[in-house]
Amino acid sequence: MPIDATLPYDDQNIFAKILRGEIPSTRVYEDDHALAFLDINPQAPTHILVIPKGAYVSWDDFSARAPDAEIAGFVRAVGIVARNAGLVEPGYRLLANIGQHGHQEVPHLHVHIFAGRPLGPMLAR
Ligand code: 5GP
Repeated sequence: MPIDATLPYDDQNIFAKILRGEIPSTRVYEDDHALAFLDINPQAPTHILVIPKGAYVSWDDFSARAPDAEIAGFVRAVGIVARNAGLVEPGYRLLANIGQHGHQEVPHLHVHIFAGRPLGPMLAR
């Protein structure tokens, strides 16, 4: 079920547990501000999730509350992960689902990185 992205942060969400190491994940990158790990249900040959380490529900929440260093760190981490995975050529897709209409299921901000095949048009028709 998609979440209401205006609700307060829930520190029992699955990505908070992954950040704390309470449940396993296949980590591909980590620094002071961000963690990247493989999606458990990949929708493309490469499907990586990048999350900020801070407690933010959505892009809106992050942009409103995060210090500049966290925002810069997260944005740079997405690029580093894509480069490290060799995705710059032939390309990849970034996606952030937010709230009910965005079909966000996990209430901790995350950016999906999809790659590994031609990804087709932007949205399902
Ligand atoms: P959303 O719809 O919120 O943008 O996407 C949430 C993503 O998290 C989905 O692609 C789903 O497969 C992934 N996911 C959910 N639970 C887990 C988990 O426990 N581990 C990992 N690695 N990914 C998860």
